[in-house]
Formats: sequence, structure tokens, C-alpha cells
Amino acid sequence: MYESQRDDSWIVDEEKAIPMLKAAYDAGINYFDTAMFYSHFKSQATLGKAVKLMDREKVMVATKIPFDEVQKTSDFRRVLDMQLELMQMDYIDFYHYHGIDKGAFDETVIGLGLKKEAQRAIDEGVIKHISFSFHGDSKDIPYMVETFEMFSSVLLQYNLLDRSNEESIDYLAGKGLGVVVMGPIAGGRLPLPSALSDRLLGTGYSTPELALRFVLGNKNVSCALSGMNTIEELKRNLEIGNLEVPMTEDDFKKAAIMMEETKKLSDLYCTGCNYCMPCPKDINIPHIFNAYTYHNVYGMSGHAKNMWNEKHGADISECTECGVCAEKCPQHIKIPEKLKEVSTILSAI
Ligand code: SF4
Ligand code: SF4
Repeated sequence: MYESQRDDSWIVDEEKAIPMLKAAYDAGINYFDTAMFYSHFKSQATLGKAVKLMDREKVMVATKIPFDEVQKTSDFRRVLDMQLELMQMDYIDFYHYHGIDKGAFDETVIGLGLKKEAQRAIDEGVIKHISFSFHGDSKDIPYMVETFEMFSSVLLQYNLLDRSNEESIDYLAGKGLGVVVMGPIAGGRLPLPSALSDRLLGTGYSTPELALRFVLGNKNVSCALSGMNTIEELKRNLEIGNLEVPMTEDDFKKAAIMMEETKKLSDLYCTGCNYCMPCPKDINIPHIFNAYTYHNVYGMSGHAKNMWNEKHGADISECTECGVCAEKCPQHIKIPEKLKEVSTILSAI
């Protein structure tokens, strides 16, 4: 879908992308997700061109407003109008506050009165639903949903390796909100040893297939977004998406238990419970340990490195070894000590 440019940036290869999007639509895919910054600002316009080849009423288009662009209340409508123009659309089906956590929700959504702006956009028919994509602490989701009162869906991370949002998924479905999953196959690659995949279920599934079946096997998931680069990947995903039962309840439980068992074999068994948080220095302890697990347990060093490199609170060098976190850890992890070890390892990969 993309081709490399000399300056190492990426552009969308529309000659391939548009027919592929149309093929996806023809095969029954009806939810398309984009965002302003995807593919160096090119993704939205390309999707807009592809949607022109479809029956607009039969597809749902999701995009997102990045808060880097929102300093004052009127920026909401300014950015929305810009996106509509870029996509050449009259309306967006699911408009998301992009990648927010509780802090951004309080400060920008509530602080700038963006609920009113969203309501106005809905009343005028330029968006159908208001949603948010989430990159925060799962336990904050009910607060955000109940404070805002008009979210229709949430886009969040969930996969075989990271089930930290699972309870929130159940909560959201119970509230009648749509649950859209990003990263269902952990960034497109789950290079787990095939022995592990066999051990999990003995089904002979390829690992990406197992991962996608797992996400779609969760009855509270409405939709999984799996980035695809080729028609072959599209076909493979369609085969799984079209299954009446992507994964039986029994296999779903078995896969989840086996993943936990495998993780326990690690020298550092962090469950991601978040009890150690907040750190007074704003170090995101579970995120760092999760990155280490990807590297150490699942052999996904590239993914671990990306997690390590992305913004995740303060640098470990800020740790004062106050021990507040370790006192609260049910796994009795010597957190300050382990953070240093893990930091050395992750910096070296
Ligand atoms: S020991 Fe370090 S990581 Fe733990 S709470 Fe204190 S400053 Fe944060
Ligand atoms: S309290 Fe312990 S197990 Fe829970 S997230 Fe923190 S380090 Fe991991």
C-alpha cells in the first residue's frame, strides 16, 4: 500500500490502495478507519477517494481529531471542516478524540467544552457519532464514558498479548457502546514461536490467524481494525472475519490461560494491574514492563523497542527509588531495581 520515498518518509501508493479499499468494500467490509497524521497526512484523502467508489450510505468512516491541533474551543470545528474538505465528504460517521487519556479528557474535552461542539456537529449532520481512541489507564474508561454521556464507541488496544482493556471492553459493551479494537494482531506481526501457537490450541492456525480469531472471538468486540498491505492479507483476514464463530468459547479461554502461563515463565511477571501507579515522578512502570515482556517472553523485540521508544511518561533516570510503587505491587516485584535492569536491556535491543 505504501512506497518508500528517498527521504525515508512514506506516501500512500494510491494506485494500489484505492483498488484494495474498493475490493474490501466489495467483499463486505463496511468500516474504514483513518486519522489526520496517518501516512504523512495522506491517508484521509486517499480514503476519501476510495469511498467515492462506494455507496456512501453503506460504509462507516472513522477519523480522529488530534489534540495537538486543539488549543481553543473553535479549533474543533476548524479541524473537522478541514478534514471533511480533505476527504471530500459531507459527514463522518465516527469522529474520535484522538488517543486520549483521562488527563487529555479533563483538560481538553471538558476544559474546552468540546462536548457542546460535538453535539453541534451532530445536530448539523456533519458527524454521526462522537467517540474516542484510548491510550490511557483502563480503569479511567468508565469515568470518561459516564462524564461525557454521549460517546457511541471507543477504539482501544486489545490482543492476545495485551488484555489489559478486557474488563473495559465488557463494561463498554454492557453500556451499549461499540468496541473497536486496534492492534488485534499486535501491529501486524505476532512472530510467536509456532510451537507456542501449536501448544495453545493445537489447531495449526498461523499466529496472525490465531490472534485475529482471539479478538473476534470476544463477543463484546464489535469490530477489529487490522492494517493490511496486500490483497493476500485482505483475503486472509476476510476468511477469518466471515466465520460465524471465529473462536469457540472454550478455545478462547484456553488461549488466554496459555498466554498467561507462558508469561509467568518470565523472570518478571508483571500483570499490568497498575496498582503501582501513579509514580510521583510519572514513570509509566506497567508500560515499560510490558515492553520487556514482548521482548523477553514473546520474542517481539521490534515491537518492544517501539514501545520503549514511544513517549511513556518520565525517563527511568528520574526514579528516586522512593519505593512507593514496590509497596503496592501484588507480585512483589522489586520495581526500582527491575526498572534499571529492564532499561539496560531495552536500550540495547
Ligand atoms: S521508586 Fe521510582 S518508579 Fe517507583 S514510585 Fe518511586 S520514583 Fe516512581
Ligand atoms: S503493581 Fe506490579 S504487577 Fe501491577 S503493574 Fe505494577 S509492577 Fe506490574
